[in-house]
Amino acid sequence: MAEPTVAVIGAGPAGLAAAELLAPRCRVTVYDRMPSPGRKLLMAGRGGLNITHSEPLESFLQQYEAAEPWLRPAIEAFPPAALRDWAEALGQPCFVGSSGRVFPRAMKASPLLRAWLARLDGLGVTLRTRCRFAGFDDAAAVRLDTPDGPELIHPDATLLALGGASWARLGSDGAWSGPLADAGVPVVPFRPANCGFVVGWSAPFAERHSGTPLKSVALRSGDRMSRGDMIVTADGLEGGAVYPLAAALRDEIERTGRAVLTLDLRPDMQAAELAARLARVRGRESLSNTLRKALSLAPVAIGLLREIGDTPPPRDPVALAGLLKALPIVLTAPAEMDRAISTAGGVSMQGVDDRFMLRARPGSFVAGEMLDWEAPTGGYLLQAAIATGRAAAHGLLAWLAERIP
Ligand SMILES: Cc1cc2nc3c(=O)[nH]c(=O)nc-3n(C[C@H](O)[C@H](O)[C@H](O)COP(=O)(O)OP(=O)(O)OC[C@H]3O[C@@H](n4cnc5c(N)ncnc54)[C@H](O)[C@@H]3O)c2cc1C
Repeated sequence: MAEPTVAVIGAGPAGLAAAELLAPRCRVTVYDRMPSPGRKLLMAGRGGLNITHSEPLESFLQQYEAAEPWLRPAIEAFPPAALRDWAEALGQPCFVGSSGRVFPRAMKASPLLRAWLARLDGLGVTLRTRCRFAGFDDAAAVRLDTPDGPELIHPDATLLALGGASWARLGSDGAWSGPLADAGVPVVPFRPANCGFVVGWSAPFAERHSGTPLKSVALRSGDRMSRGDMIVTADGLEGGAVYPLAAALRDEIERTGRAVLTLDLRPDMQAAELAARLARVRGRESLSNTLRKALSLAPVAIGLLREIGDTPPPRDPVALAGLLKALPIVLTAPAEMDRAISTAGGVSMQGVDDRFMLRARPGSFVAGEMLDWEAPTGGYLLQAAIATGRAAAHGLLAWLAERIP
């Protein structure tokens, strides 16, 4: 009997992982709406490509919070160590960074993606680009918009891995949510995750400092802390130190209309040491000179100190040190969703069975960021995208096996 045909739609990490697993057993065609595959993966590579995290599996899984029970079987079946081995087998040796994050030594995605696509080609996978999933037709068909016009395909099974709803120019525009909702699939509205926030700077501050990083700061929101760099944007803040707190900050803004982020500009020094250093600078120096001479504070940090609050910063060394250690920044909204590293929302857990098959559409499976889960940056996103791609592919094979002996 002929091999079953499978359409994998979405050539991001989830779709490619599914195709790799399916290819030895099925005739696989991967479709993507963009002219080339894996564009968001390539973008992730610009930040070094943090593919997973080296922490123990139990604490790793806790990063998915409410979705943890849902994702657990997929990640246990393809855990971080397996992902690392897989990358290494594609010729990309990995290392663990100081924060426990795992990166390929090449610190970019292009060699990994090249090797991955070559492997898929070797497995006989066909890639068709510029083909957009436009919805389902009758029970057996999938509608595509292609450069030659609309096309109906009739694969034996379909696996959708269409991504979330950010960085639309890289392909994942979330437009699939309409056709899936029309097909009776419960879809939770998208929300930005791992996103920046709006503060609403004064024009002079934004003009002078937009695009400038604040290095090695610490942030606090409630009982959550993070450390790292952040960037002043035209109207707020974004960056690696902000993202771990983003989901909680976003939820707080949804509840109360605002959230307060507490910034520590000198996390490696105690307040008393800061105050002592400030006190050593002569009193007639300007505030900027004092901060520069005593603490080598960057102009953006000094600007921020002046920008926040209704009154000028205190000159008293103890009070000023206190402010440097806990500068309250009021956030009024998440930044535009399209700039978010990832999105929450998507196909609801209730909409799929434990094989990642759509309950409303037997024979159609879903994987990756298009599912309604979220996690911080740190490698958790790629890990879950790839692990769910593989889990959905396993589910698809099991479903086919029940139908096609
Ligand atoms: C700047 C940036 C940096 C990142 N860095 C990291 C990192 O270091 N570590 C990490 O773990 N994660 C990182 N991520 C997140 C990670 O890239 C994503 O979570 C991951 O790519 C999701 O994989 P996916 O396959 O589910 O979706 P995607 O990678 O978004 O792929 C979905 C694919 O589906 C296609 N598609 C969408 N709609 C249609 C349609 N209607 N028809 C046909 N095709 C369609 C898209 O063109 C795309 O190719 C980063 C993201 C960004 C934006």
